[in-house]
Amino acid sequence: MSPGSEHAARGGIDLGGTKIQTIVVDADNKILGQSRRPTPTEGGPEDVAKEIEAALREATAQAGLETRELAGVGVGSPGDADEATGVVSDARNLPGWIGPFPLGEQLSGQFGVPVRVGNDVQVAVQGEFELGAAKEFDTILGVWWGTGVGGGLILDGKPWLGRGAAAEIGHVVVKMGGARCTCGRKGCMEAYAGRMAMEIRARKEVQNGAKTDLFRIMEERGRDRLTSGVWERALRHGDDLATRLMDRAVKALGAGVASCVNVIDPEAVIIGGGLGVRMGERYVRRIAARMHPHLFMDDRPPEIRLAGLGDLGGAIGAALLVDARVPTPAT
Ligand SMILES: [Zn+2]
Repeated sequence: MSPGSEHAARGGIDLGGTKIQTIVVDADNKILGQSRRPTPTEGGPEDVAKEIEAALREATAQAGLETRELAGVGVGSPGDADEATGVVSDARNLPGWIGPFPLGEQLSGQFGVPVRVGNDVQVAVQGEFELGAAKEFDTILGVWWGTGVGGGLILDGKPWLGRGAAAEIGHVVVKMGGARCTCGRKGCMEAYAGRMAMEIRARKEVQNGAKTDLFRIMEERGRDRLTSGVWERALRHGDDLATRLMDRAVKALGAGVASCVNVIDPEAVIIGGGLGVRMGERYVRRIAARMHPHLFMDDRPPEIRLAGLGDLGGAIGAALLVDARVPTPAT
């Protein structure tokens, strides 16, 4: 490897509630190394930072590099991630992570290179914008359908962060006084379409006598949550409750996403996230169909596309946080 290309390599970290995905990419965003570790379920931010370090060192070793040889490292983090300071707070799906923790500074000390921290969904949407399903557009809305329903906005080629909390589309109201959301409010899109909310609803219906294979499939797979894979399997077998709750989710996504489209008028909507990617193209079509009655300009709907970067999209997007422009070697 030439000295120039070595220094152009960057690290990307997708920090999630269940896994830490790390990659090392070259200047052309080609993947040189990758590693995945489970996110600690106990302890606190320091323990998570240690796991991140181990996972990135594995990916870097695979690439034949050391972390201090990277141009920098980007992290897509859940919770309230401050891009300017690298401080992350209120990451409720990570253990003991309610107060602020200087993740960027901590990791920078561990790796010996600059570390930039961004919102997990926003960096994934940025990845799709630069390298994935949204390459030819300037203004897009990303809808990340998973445990919750997150969003990312790019307006005229630039990420729109608002005052730090833009594109929280999961909390668009789709029904006044409706279902209780995991955020504590009522009638949010996420209260119908988020995987967590769907699971809470499924458990409640089972308590009230509903029959379903969802929890049997969950146990067979050794899971303690209704993962995307569990939902997919139950739906494939025509499970009544799963079908009903998924129809309800798609309907809510249709209303909520269409309402956002009416405000922003984006060229494209990109559907990603764990559930989005797992349910795939057929569900993208279903969501598009459910959006249509709510679109004000229904004669020219935006393109609705499935995210194209797959499982590594979050980590690839995170690596884009690092400025890839490095001094070109003289020869
Ligand atoms: Zn909510």
